[in-house]
Amino acid sequence: MKCEFHRKEAEHCESHIIPKFAYKWMKKTGSGRFRQLGKFNSPIQDGIKKYMLCKDCEGKFSKYEKWFNEKVFKPYINDCNFVVKNERELKYFIVSVLWKVLKLFKDDGNNYNFKTDLNNAEIEWGNYLLNDEPITKYKNLHLVLVDSNYWIEQKSDLYFSRSIDIEIAESDKLCFIYAKFSRFILIGEIIGFSENSFQNTNITIENEFRSTNQIINESGIIQFFMDRVNNTKEYDDLSVKQKENNAKYYKNKLESLRETDYMKLQNKYK
Ligand SMILES: [Zn+2]
Repeated sequence: MKCEFHRKEAEHCESHIIPKFAYKWMKKTGSGRFRQLGKFNSPIQDGIKKYMLCKDCEGKFSKYEKWFNEKVFKPYINDCNFVVKNERELKYFIVSVLWKVLKLFKDDGNNYNFKTDLNNAEIEWGNYLLNDEPITKYKNLHLVLVDSNYWIEQKSDLYFSRSIDIEIAESDKLCFIYAKFSRFILIGEIIGFSENSFQNTNITIENEFRSTNQIINESGIIQFFMDRVNNTKEYDDLSVKQKENNAKYYKNKLESLRETDYMKLQNKYK
């Protein structure tokens, strides 16, 4: 089999799309009941794995995952005021995760509106990761830091601070690659964004990242967030009986999410 990254014959090994440390953190800190969203509905304990890369390439990626875990993930999880410095390793890590998400979904049989752009982004990001070639077209890549204090309320912790989510998100005019784990959101613009869609999040522009000054001005993204928050319950893998027992609880919870967090997000982004 050909390694999907360096495109040469090699034995594949299992790749985590979202790094293992994110799952470990969730297991250690949470109830363990959260489920994968999007096209997957498997327990998060397993992570999302795919035979995609050879051992060498997986090893290369995991070097940057380790870097991110030590230099960004742990410090920020411990303190939301931690300022993330933009370093070479950060960009590599972000592009590698987005590339894996893109690769995972792009050729899975879905008819994406922007398939040509997705193909082009895959090539451009791949050439950067493999040969250190500059990213010129699909260069708007965002690191969004979720702040537990004011960005969201406790009630939407369910989605914004805990769940793991990956997707190629599309509407008729917007397309982006999305990866979320713990309090980190990665977004790779594919098409349809305006210049002020994001503030203080772009890894091609910013020198550092802090949760307190980041802004998303794109209503398509806000709507996407809200859909995901709502989906968190749809994908919750309770038995039918449990669902009946919990129906009222979840209904109330959903209502309160809609009332509080939606408004809160809207307000912040206005
Ligand atoms: Zn390889």
